[in-house]
Amino acid sequence: MKYDTFLTGDRPSGKLHLGHYAGSLKNRLRMQDECLKGYIMVADVQALSDNFASPEKVIKSVVEVTKDYIAVGINPFKITIFIQSLIPELAELTIYYMNMVSVSRLERNPTVKAEIKQKNYGESIPVGFLCYPISQVADITAFDANLVPVGDDQLPMIELTNEVVRRFNRLYDKEVLKEVTAVLSKTQRLIGIDGNAKASKSLGNAIFLADDASTIKDKVYSMFTDPDHIRVSDPGKVDGNVVFTYLDAFFENKEELEELKKHYKKGGLSDISLKSLLNKTLQDLISPIREKRESLKQDEMMDILITGSKIAREAAKQTLYNVKSAMGITYC
Ligand code: ATP
Ligand code: MG
Repeated sequence: MKYDTFLTGDRPSGKLHLGHYAGSLKNRLRMQDECLKGYIMVADVQALSDNFASPEKVIKSVVEVTKDYIAVGINPFKITIFIQSLIPELAELTIYYMNMVSVSRLERNPTVKAEIKQKNYGESIPVGFLCYPISQVADITAFDANLVPVGDDQLPMIELTNEVVRRFNRLYDKEVLKEVTAVLSKTQRLIGIDGNAKASKSLGNAIFLADDASTIKDKVYSMFTDPDHIRVSDPGKVDGNVVFTYLDAFFENKEELEELKKHYKKGGLSDISLKSLLNKTLQDLISPIREKRESLKQDEMMDILITGSKIAREAAKQTLYNVKSAMGITYC
């Protein structure tokens, strides 16, 4: 790992939640100590692709997402945190890569397909939205990264990246771009508190790292368990039970959890006691993050982002130069 570089990012479409924590932030914390370099991108350009009518939400969230990074323990002296729109080279790389991806390839992307349905675009899919996976190829390749810590919804983007990398290197007969590997965590996709397949900012079905104690409690107590578990003595189902899914992701004592599952399946364990355990687990996890978060100032976050963006831009300039040189489009 000592020679690895990672690149990852988040859309500033809202604050970060437990899905980010379990799916990607925990891996980033580990990797910031193990890798040679790391870049974290606040993907404002990508967030605008489906929030173009409300840029103020995106702009406000840039600082919020950065606060989440620092509050969980990302160290800006080790990791370059930057804003996507401050690196125009990424847009230029995107334009070149667009020539290497077909429209039908984009339309087959299962994550984009699900998002198009969720956003009710019908026949009016914005070109920018359909193409965001290509802009992600630019983001991933621009920093010479080989590892990408992400949730499983990003696997189609990593696959596309490697297709473009191979195609580009073959076409121009040079090893200019690097293939990348996704780094998945044990919780590859945290479900929503409503039981939806994915907790997401856009669906508003998540527990956020900035949530206060009573909001966390309300959200935990609103989770459904097993609708057929009516009396405490009834045998209950563990699969598809939102409370158990969250305990699986966040309750550290796995042996005790196995015992609880057995007890619940047999009957005699109440939903309230399970929810109380999950509430305590999440309060213990989130309260230090929230307290740290509340101490962070907007100006400090902007300083981190501006400094990081200058460093990131130098790296992206080099990659753009290499890409253009490989194609032979260097006129001066
Ligand atoms: P949006 O709804 O705006 O797309 P999001 O909640 O999906 O927001 P992103 O910024 O798109 O968050 O994702 C950032 C990273 O967090 C990606 O690597 C993604 O895979 C991961 N991630 C997001 N939600 C989850 C989740 N529920 N479980 C695991 N990983 C997640
Ligand atoms: Mg997303």
